[in-house]
Amino acid sequence: MIQELLEAMQSDALAWQDGANCAGADPDLFFPERGASTRTAKSICRECSVQTQCLEFAIVSSEKFGIWGGMSERERRKIRRERTIAAQRRQVG
Ligand code: SF4
Repeated sequence: MIQELLEAMQSDALAWQDGANCAGADPDLFFPERGASTRTAKSICRECSVQTQCLEFAIVSSEKFGIWGGMSERERRKIRRERTIAAQRRQVG
């Protein structure tokens, strides 16, 4: 029962993936070798109706690799860092 509930919650939480514009695209575009262009992947993301959900998922789950929500790991790391700093300031202030 609990396992079924967990699976239902998980599938619901990932339902946004049904709208992924990258479905069927070459995965190598989204997980390029170091130094390879990310331009094509990011252009696919710009046209994606679930870009916001995808980016948020990658940020909160600390995805280490690939282009998610139109951003690289380095770009997502910057957002995580900014959120951490903002949260610390709220605690202090
Ligand atoms: S934002 Fe990009 S990586 Fe995320 S689902 Fe859409 S196309 Fe795929």
